[in-house]
Amino acid sequence: MKENNDEKQRIAAALNRIKNRLLVFSGKGGVGKSTVAANLAFGLSKKDLEIGLLDIDIHGPNMAKMLGVEGKMLEPDSEGRIRPIPVNDNLILISMAFLLEDNTMPVIWRGPMKMKVITQFISDVAWGDLDWLIIDSPPGTGDEPLSIAQLIPATGALIVTTPQEVSLLDSRKAINFARRLGLPIVGIVENMSGLKCPHCSRDIDLFGAGGGERMAAEMDTLFLGRIPIDPKIVELGDKGVPIADGHGDSAVARAYEQIISRIVLPV
Ligand code: ADP
Repeated sequence: MKENNDEKQRIAAALNRIKNRLLVFSGKGGVGKSTVAANLAFGLSKKDLEIGLLDIDIHGPNMAKMLGVEGKMLEPDSEGRIRPIPVNDNLILISMAFLLEDNTMPVIWRGPMKMKVITQFISDVAWGDLDWLIIDSPPGTGDEPLSIAQLIPATGALIVTTPQEVSLLDSRKAINFARRLGLPIVGIVENMSGLKCPHCSRDIDLFGAGGGERMAAEMDTLFLGRIPIDPKIVELGDKGVPIADGHGDSAVARAYEQIISRIVLPV
């Protein structure tokens, strides 16, 4: 009982020092949720804001690779708390990947154990004073995202979708899920939104177009912006370079700029 109370106090103390806690989630997997979370965190850190990124997409923790800090292990600080891994001067990261000795092994922990680790990612991590904590939640609206949303009280939710109808359908569910939890919805991001043909420069709407914006209007939520498909995202992601880093002239980097400005200063 005492241990539980201590933990609750540590969580409350940690949360108190974090101004905004943004839960990034999606109705389904594979829509680019983790990529969006990583690039938003990185982009925000370039605005001279103190940013933490928490990767709790336990079954596929690939944030460390995307941000070029793969292979690092978590270590305690002088007070015995877990020290997050620095990505740059303003961005720190905690990921399940840092606890896995072999990143080719799947995480097959049972529910209660996973939740214990996630609790410790708040209670026992030296996050310090942050402007934003970006939380990459597992996809969907099942037990796991639900437990996470309850464990880590977010101040807002951001939903990532593709323009494809199946993704939009699941995103409506995700919006209702957030509403039921009493989470304010910061807005919708439409990812994989059109592709510029590298040969003829014409636009190809691979997964459809405009669905995210229509859905946002229909569900009475803010539309934050659309991020086109760009093979560079995959190439750079595999090299551990976020597209927001030094690729300011690309349509994708501009899209992130717009989304970030809308998150920081909602219109
Ligand atoms: P999720 O977290 O929703 O499962 P990921 O962020 O892991 O999805 O992205 C799935 C794949 O799609 C990754 O290979 C990623 O590099 C790629 N990807 C994400 N967004 C884009 C985009 N806008 N253009 C091209 N590839 C993308």
